[in-house]
Amino acid sequence: MLRWACICVGQSPIVLRVQSSFESLSLSAALTAVVADLGYTDPTPIQAATIPALLKGRDLVGQSKTGSGKTAAFALPILQGIEVQRRVVQALVLCPTRELSAQVARELRKLGRGHPGLAVLELVGGQPSRPQREALERGVHVVIGTPGRLLDHLERGALDPSSLRTVVLDEADRMLDMGFGEDVTRLLRALPEKRQTVLFSATFPDSIEAISRSFQRDAVRVTIEEPEEALGEIRQLQLSAAPGEKLHALCWLLDRFPHESALVFCNFKATVAQLVEDLAGSGMSVDRLDGDLDQFHRDQVLARFRSQSLRVLIATDVAGRGLDVQGLDLVINFELPPQPEVYVHRIGRTGRAGRQGVAVSLTRGPGDERLEAAAALTGMEVDTLTRSAENDPGIETLLRTLARPPRMGTILISGGRKDRIRPGDLLGALTGEAGGLRGDDVGKIEIQQKLSYVAVALPVARSAVECLNRGRIKGKRFRATLVGVSAWRSS
Ligand code: AMP
Repeated sequence: MLRWACICVGQSPIVLRVQSSFESLSLSAALTAVVADLGYTDPTPIQAATIPALLKGRDLVGQSKTGSGKTAAFALPILQGIEVQRRVVQALVLCPTRELSAQVARELRKLGRGHPGLAVLELVGGQPSRPQREALERGVHVVIGTPGRLLDHLERGALDPSSLRTVVLDEADRMLDMGFGEDVTRLLRALPEKRQTVLFSATFPDSIEAISRSFQRDAVRVTIEEPEEALGEIRQLQLSAAPGEKLHALCWLLDRFPHESALVFCNFKATVAQLVEDLAGSGMSVDRLDGDLDQFHRDQVLARFRSQSLRVLIATDVAGRGLDVQGLDLVINFELPPQPEVYVHRIGRTGRAGRQGVAVSLTRGPGDERLEAAAALTGMEVDTLTRSAENDPGIETLLRTLARPPRMGTILISGGRKDRIRPGDLLGALTGEAGGLRGDDVGKIEIQQKLSYVAVALPVARSAVECLNRGRIKGKRFRATLVGVSAWRSS
């Protein structure tokens, strides 16, 4: 498939047709294999337009939005340049927030699966410095973090930048908006002069231009002329439901739109609690995400949701902020938000990276002014669904049909990065002679600082837990437990 990108070298824009197969991008065989393994069939436009220049070592300014595939756009060239046998910092990624740092680190580790021994380290504020210094002493290849903490380690001499080849400023405009301008400048000044500097930003205010002028040489500029807005991948629908009918209408929607993962938004915690109680009671795979959850349970619910061992997640906006889930099949506004911008943000979680998603809103009736204001902001049509006696089998039948277990089960393991556990260790423990699982029984693997989550096909989940509890990983015993299963078994 060919797409169009506008690439400017210096000030002159050249509109180019961008090649869009990963094979044509001069990536190593290892990276091409991982990308294929992850199911990325074609590069996204930003990837197709930036990867060749980045592989040549050029400085670059890329216009990008979340969901455009920008992380892989810079992560793949970084990985291609890493010399794994040298345990020194070779690339640095600056992010505005801890959440984005974690997201970038996750993507880098995922794409780095074909590089055994690769060490990716997050250095973010709000966490003790000492373990971070110790990790740096042990030696790492890629460092990702927030500007303040990175600068701190750099100025104390814990982070040695002398072997650094590439620095990336991700969401550079947001970083400046959040007041990191001075830290960023100090950081860039402290890095070796001979290096590649890459800037990704959604907008290009003067402050970004100034950074580019001061710290980049002959930068390639890439803006993507998208034929339609990213929201074009989202089908927007509405269904009117009287207050007493909303639970029934929600079940009808969940049944009508096939989904592995559906996110349902409410405006209040109390509504979330009530819905989860109603739906879990009938045996559905459902859980909640609201401001009352502590960090541990929040991480756990999200890990289950990301790894498809939870079909329906019911959330408030507060809890959904910084929510690292994308490419969902279905987003439902059980209650429309009062601000139109929140609506756009909510529905933006579906249909990422070229997949069509569905966003349905329950309304008070035709001409609901909250939906009209929100739809005006997206500039797109919202189609109306009709529920009638002919197409609605009734709530009892719907609840029975929806009481399906999820595809996967999530196992929590009591060890993580600090125990040097890597995805390959868990995969090794579960498959082959030791575990007996097939490779395709194992889904998403997330290694956190002190614990890990691994998704396995639900029918083999219990035997996988037993196998992990019997065996050793990196010579040590860890406790493995299946999490969140009771919710859908409670019927
Ligand atoms: P990002 O814009 O970097 O936040 O990426 C958005 C999502 O798209 C992430 O979940 C990536 O894993 C996924 N992604 C990145 N590149 C591709 C691709 N070429 N094809 C399909 N999905 C992709």
